[in-house]
Amino acid sequence: MPTPLCYAPCETHPGETRCALTPESAAALVKLGFAVRFEPGLGRGAGHLDEAYFAAGAQAGDGDTLAAADLVLRIRKPSADSIGKMKPGAVHLSLLDPFNERALIERFAAAGVAAVSLELVPRTTLAQKMDVLSSQASLAGYAAVVHAAARLPLALPMMMTPAGTLLPAKVFVIGAGVAGLQAIATAKRLGARVEAFDTRPVVEEQVRSLGAKFLKIDLGQTGQSAGGYAQALTPEQIARQQAGMAKACAQADIVVTTAKLFGRKSPILLTPEMVAGMRAGSVIADLALEAGGNTAGAEPGRDVLTPNGVLILGEACYERHVARHASQVFAANLLAWVTHFWDGAAARLALDRTGDEILAGSLVTLDGRIVHPTFSPKAA
Ligand code: NAD
Repeated sequence: MPTPLCYAPCETHPGETRCALTPESAAALVKLGFAVRFEPGLGRGAGHLDEAYFAAGAQAGDGDTLAAADLVLRIRKPSADSIGKMKPGAVHLSLLDPFNERALIERFAAAGVAAVSLELVPRTTLAQKMDVLSSQASLAGYAAVVHAAARLPLALPMMMTPAGTLLPAKVFVIGAGVAGLQAIATAKRLGARVEAFDTRPVVEEQVRSLGAKFLKIDLGQTGQSAGGYAQALTPEQIARQQAGMAKACAQADIVVTTAKLFGRKSPILLTPEMVAGMRAGSVIADLALEAGGNTAGAEPGRDVLTPNGVLILGEACYERHVARHASQVFAANLLAWVTHFWDGAAARLALDRTGDEILAGSLVTLDGRIVHPTFSPKAA
């Protein structure tokens, strides 16, 4: 039986520091039965030298490795060009941004590559260990508060000094999902006074249990999908939310926004008027920036200082600043997916299982066809 080849190329997205394969996950894949190759320099941004991969049993890949690989691991979507270089029957695992990348999905199908979209892994208990959205969001929430705190002209905790009392900074977190809850916990640990809001009423209890205040705004009927995602609000509800949050924003030193809608553009929650009403020196960290952003005037990749002195951070991927930890959990998520589908006796990934919820949820293309119901030609 030939040994299947797993390959992890370097990420090409500007500023990306994470890697989909760590020395630890490489060792686990070797143990599982793969020959593992990596593009030299793969782990540099995450603090992993090539030598660590060699010690784990992996080898360096070259220009031909992509074409020979049975399994390709990446953080982000590949270029159309690199999909064309893969061999039919190979499996590709990464984030794919499938709702915005129809052409890329068709390209995978045309190349006969089985593409797995990590965004689509169902949010079930069994699949929790494969959930990259959660593993990355948690670190993003942490890193966003650390970044915002570093740019704030204030200390976060209260300090009693002989020269006077320094009041604790106020942090307002909009959206208390995975990222938001970690942002709340981080800001609390740093000594800030924290307030939060989310449209899903079920999170009030979680916010309180972290020692933060939950801002109550009556929006009428809101809710969440079976997968735990927030549903879009009506324009009237958004307007009510904005009015309800204006005071909290005006009093905040740091505003962290994390409000996303799965597969859709994020809602603008901080209007120009609300930003104009904030204090000089305050900082906004918008964790929804890659999905359009929650803040009017925010620009991905560029910090914006408004005329009234509010700093809107342009960072769109906070987790890349904790690349070693982010890579560790991302690679562990991938390893969990591979292990779940690994057929050791046949030394292959069994993608022909029927009735597997994780496969049905995350496999987008197989055997030259788009197999995911949301993206099949019939659904288009
Ligand atoms: P997300 O990243 O899609 O959204 C972030 C937060 O923004 C959510 O809490 C959402 O309710 C909120 N939001 C959306 N629109 C808003 C608005 N207009 N104003 C304020 N807040 C708004 O969501 P997420 O953080 O990935 O997770 C959402 C839920 O799913 C959480 O309850 C989480 O615990 C749950 N979850 C479950 C599993 C599992 O069961 N395996 C895994 C991951 C997450």
